[in-house]
Amino acid sequence: MPVFDSRSFRNHENVVFCSDEATGLKAIIAVHSTALGPATGGTRFWDYAAIHRRSAPIDVAETRGEQDAVYDVLRLSRGMSFKNAMAGLRLGGGKSVIIGNPRELGTPELMRAFGRMINRLGGNYYAAEDVGTSPDMLAAASETTAYVCGLDGGDFGTGDPSPHTALGVFTGIQASVKHRLGKDDLNGVRVAVQGLGHVGQYLVDHLRNAGAKVIVTDIVDANIKAVLERGEAEVVSPDEIHAVDCDVYAPCALGGTLNPKTLGDIKATIIAGAANNQLETEGKEDEQLRKRGILYAPDYVINAGGIISVESEVYKEKVDNAAREAKVLRIGETLTKIYEASDKQGRPTGVIANEMAEDIIRKANEAKLAAAAE
Ligand code: NAD
Repeated sequence: MPVFDSRSFRNHENVVFCSDEATGLKAIIAVHSTALGPATGGTRFWDYAAIHRRSAPIDVAETRGEQDAVYDVLRLSRGMSFKNAMAGLRLGGGKSVIIGNPRELGTPELMRAFGRMINRLGGNYYAAEDVGTSPDMLAAASETTAYVCGLDGGDFGTGDPSPHTALGVFTGIQASVKHRLGKDDLNGVRVAVQGLGHVGQYLVDHLRNAGAKVIVTDIVDANIKAVLERGEAEVVSPDEIHAVDCDVYAPCALGGTLNPKTLGDIKATIIAGAANNQLETEGKEDEQLRKRGILYAPDYVINAGGIISVESEVYKEKVDNAAREAKVLRIGETLTKIYEASDKQGRPTGVIANEMAEDIIRKANEAKLAAAAE
């Protein structure tokens, strides 16, 4: 299975394969870059072979699953480098994956074994919550390593990142509306929110408070009910949300929502939401959107509020809410810079953001090397 030559490998500093026979742990920790600080990013717990078991013999399915896990961790860790760089954080990019079904394997013992693996990296990598891992699971890992963040309680615990992520998306929508529609406020602006989970519900609150008209959907009725209990919203089916007549489409559910099947239906002039990996293919859909005059807020830039809130935990700093909020609100300025460069150069916003992030990381690396040579 090629790693160095794989399509997702981009000069990662360190990729560590970990196993623990007693608990069944199989994990990969990818440190993409520590140029800006300790590599920080979530731990995904996912049964990568499941999709292959439907069509392939078990051993082939397991091999393909492992291959997918490698690509996933490489791609996601590079994404974290870019996200942390663009958010102006003292954090590098990393990510980890634990292979298997978290419901069957995700015991406290396994998480403690995983914590020991993180510990061996000596602080080069900090883990946080991601798909398949819960606060309880991370708390178990934190029993064997100090390099876990996004924890509740303790002296520096920053807890649930979702309200910060939602605030960042809200400020990003404001900046996008200002840039594309020339409006200073969201009064009467129609925003379609796909997914009313942790982030989506807080986002809807911000939007309604700002006078926006919200159109919402979710596959879970209870989440729609929770939103309707707190205020007005137009509800549409999950199949329709991307195509509704609105100013802003805010994907806040899963990745891959901007793809060849959905792109033609989109009527919004702005796409700005929390979901990770919204573009099916980087540099492709964002170019098509640009050509159609639709402004796309690069996902990892607009959804950085959560990781911004976590930075202080990595550095064991006490930060008050106002300072944290001020940093999250800078997301709007960063997006405006990307939009201006995109307009000037006639190139997609996603590509511009990647180049800006790479530039920040390269300069940090050069500064580190120069300091070491002194
Ligand atoms: P969540 O799981 O709490 O919420 C996702 C919601 O989307 C759920 O209510 C789910 O029912 C709904 N959903 C799933 N498929 C759907 C579909 N096809 N149509 C409509 N709704 C659907 O997740 P979250 O924490 O709110 O995160 C939302 C997105 O933002 C995810 O992509 C996540 O990776 C990303 N993100 C979250 C954070 C954070 O701080 N929580 C930070 C950065 C990025």
